[in-house]
Amino acid sequence: MPKRSNKLRLKKMKPKKKTKYYEWQQKALQGGVCSTCNRRFDVLTVDHIIPQSIVQVIDPEAVYEDEENFMLVCAACNRFKAGRIDIKNPKTKELLIKYANRI
Ligand SMILES: [Zn+2]
Repeated sequence: MPKRSNKLRLKKMKPKKKTKYYEWQQKALQGGVCSTCNRRFDVLTVDHIIPQSIVQVIDPEAVYEDEENFMLVCAACNRFKAGRIDIKNPKTKELLIKYANRI
């Protein structure tokens, strides 16, 4: 099995539609400081504060359009959080209430 290169990972990030999520992905490719570990990276990833799997059920469009639910994090922090909810993030409660009101 060939080792997955950085290039392949970036290619996979490109969405089909020009959504808000797409714009954030462009920002992520320019790197910056990870919102979780505060370290600097050449490339970041877009993470959903409230996981995609939850938002998908409540409001599928919000998955790619709700900028409030996006944050730029490094690949390691994104993988670590995965599909969980981070209660230490102050935006989590606010967003949970917002999405709960859409049910
Ligand atoms: Zn990080």
